Amino acid sequence: MQIAPIKIMCPICGTVDWYDILMSAFIAAREPDLDLRPPEMLRSSMSMWAHECKKCSYVISQSKNPFVDPVFLNSEKYIDCDGVALRSDLAKRFFREYLIALEVNDKEKAAYAIRNAAWVCDDNGDGLNAIECRKRLCNILPDVIKASRRFPKMLKREDRKKTENLILLYADALRRSEQDAKLYALCKKILFGSKRLGEALLYQAELAKTNDRSCHTFDDLRESEDSKQ
Ligand SMILES: [Zn+2]
Repeated sequence: MQIAPIKIMCPICGTVDWYDILMSAFIAAREPDLDLRPPEMLRSSMSMWAHECKKCSYVISQSKNPFVDPVFLNSEKYIDCDGVALRSDLAKRFFREYLIALEVNDKEKAAYAIRNAAWVCDDNGDGLNAIECRKRLCNILPDVIKASRRFPKMLKREDRKKTENLILLYADALRRSEQDAKLYALCKKILFGSKRLGEALLYQAELAKTNDRSCHTFDDLRESEDSKQ
């Protein structure tokens, strides 16, 4: 992994500080999890994906740092992560990034931030809060998916891939937060997309039927497909 310290100015209070930023990473050949969570090596760089300003507590992201009223950063909701007792500072950081994004109504940014908080909870063995983060993720993802398909006929290939990835994320979050009825409804509703998406949705539904809430990868999916042949 290539890491470089970079000077960044907080967009809220103007404090300038040095932050480690990931410049490039070795991408392992291993398949990601079904929600596209990358393998451990890349995940270990997550502390560089967002930084908390030491002065005003604003969470500075790698892209898009919207203005938010500093009063919000001092609110109980922000400081206490909306009452969710997260175990790690990194999970709290992503959770606060999610709260800022929600405050400015950027649901897409909020979705990726709360997804990251769930991944940190997974790595910390903080199962209950991982479920809480995924429930919150499921509350906003349908709107994000809808917005990503606003003009389906004009979508470019990378846009279609983004929509598919959001659906993969949604299906996994639904299963892992025990929202099976919504998962089955999603499987019935999605009649477009790649073979990979179709297989992943069916596999998610199969796992839900056996009450399997654990983490699975695309390698598991392939093994399951192979065993059926
Ligand atoms: Zn600041």
